[in-house]
Amino acid sequence: MTLIDTRTPDPKRFIPGATGDWEIIIGLEVHAQVASNAKLFSGASTEFGAEPNHNVSLVDAAMPGMLPVINRECVAQAIRTGLGLKAQINHRSVFDRKNYFYPDLPQGYQISQFKDPIVGEGKIIISVGPDNKGQFEDIEIGIERLHLEQDAGKSIHDQHPTMSYVDLNRTGVALMEIVSKPDMRSADEAKAYITKLRTILRYLGTCDGNMEQGSLRADVNVSVRKPGGEFGTRCEIKNVNSIRFIGQAIEYEARRQIAILEDGGAIDQETRLFDPNKGETRSMRSKEDAHDYRYFPDPDLLPLEFEQAWVDELAKNLPELPDDKKNRLMAELGLTAYDASILVSEKAIADYFEQVAEGRDGKQAANWVINNLLGKLNETGQEIGESPVSPDQLGKILDLIKSGDISGQIAKELFDIVWAEGGDPGKIVEERGMKQVTDTGAIEAEVDKIIAANPDKAEQAKEKPNMAGWFVGQVMKATGGKANPQAVNKLVREKLGIEG
Ligand code: ADP
Ligand code: MG
Repeated sequence: MTLIDTRTPDPKRFIPGATGDWEIIIGLEVHAQVASNAKLFSGASTEFGAEPNHNVSLVDAAMPGMLPVINRECVAQAIRTGLGLKAQINHRSVFDRKNYFYPDLPQGYQISQFKDPIVGEGKIIISVGPDNKGQFEDIEIGIERLHLEQDAGKSIHDQHPTMSYVDLNRTGVALMEIVSKPDMRSADEAKAYITKLRTILRYLGTCDGNMEQGSLRADVNVSVRKPGGEFGTRCEIKNVNSIRFIGQAIEYEARRQIAILEDGGAIDQETRLFDPNKGETRSMRSKEDAHDYRYFPDPDLLPLEFEQAWVDELAKNLPELPDDKKNRLMAELGLTAYDASILVSEKAIADYFEQVAEGRDGKQAANWVINNLLGKLNETGQEIGESPVSPDQLGKILDLIKSGDISGQIAKELFDIVWAEGGDPGKIVEERGMKQVTDTGAIEAEVDKIIAANPDKAEQAKEKPNMAGWFVGQVMKATGGKANPQAVNKLVREKLGIEG
């Protein structure tokens, strides 16, 4: 593969060293488990957390004479993902055998795609920032390819003093390996990339993106160079399974390489492991080359071929993707880029927001979801799926504001009550007497009382009209926030003799 440098060196991202500035070059190989009920070449279940060795068919166990049969749904998922990555879909691809021994790989080879992957070049737009001026920058990261392959099983080394166990449940589960171009230039960019990729996969429903369960993991390739120079020798950090660790591994690895180079040394191309406890990478083995695996087309499988009509069909049924949704929310509801990007950042948040916004004021819905709901979830450390306030309940709170039954201030109290106790917002307002006082007679009485009690201030207000605000505040306080603020404002101004 010839590497093309698509990025102009950017001083913002240089890191200083003793011999001058350095640039980090990063490329990610992400393994994403395909969301499917059955494995790539067998009918065994892919369910997570099953009893060890329960989801193993004769094909997965590589019994003699067993033949792989491709799972059409896994192919469809790979095509959907390719479409979501704006990538080229290859109507003909080839499955190869990648030969190596491992106790959790009964076949003695992994079925993968080497020369002819199902998906070719694509791209992902990431947003990095904010910088010290609060600005975000959109950067395009190239996708080199996406290919389908089998996952291996799991060796378990810590359950017995002298033996290792092997669990083949994962053996043969379909993975999409999504290979980026070496287009990332900082740990933040790499984190933004994997975050965006996970969002896209979740929108598409092609991978659950669950990193703790291993459904999404990344091999992180890192090299350093003098800005704008030749690409340096890379090290590949295997199987990093959290976004935070990806960032830490890159920072550590870049510093390690810079130190070696500044010391006059050279980087060995090797495969390394990240140790989250120590925050370090350490050498695992020297880098293997493709020819070491003796790739050859799997004689048990024909080349995978399909028509454009199928691709078109899948494309037609693709859900709206985060970038498109963001643009639509901005155009249709007038949301800011910042608010829209928060709302689309997770499919579950976008779904929640769209239910609240349906038939209501979009900007107001966005404010409530971002500032009140997400703010509170952030405090309690809960996910949106665990929100004690449902979209329907939040929508009803907004309706009560709109109808004038409650003020914005009371709405916040109501939100807290619904959060803590649940229940129908309308009923709560009725039962607890939270309805806004729109009866001008009652408000008028309060206004009179406060003006009478503060003759000096009332006198001053004639000269300084914005003192009306003080009176409004007093009336609101006296009515427990239940008076209609517009009505109070109007009456206060009338009574004080303030124009306008
Ligand atoms: P392999 O399987 O041998 O690791 P791949 O082509 O599958 O090779 O993946 C190589 C990955 O390494 C890609 O993500 C690519 O962008 C990245 N990469 C290649 N060269 C460099 C480099 N000099 N520095 C950082 N990353 C690199
Ligand atoms: Mg690799």
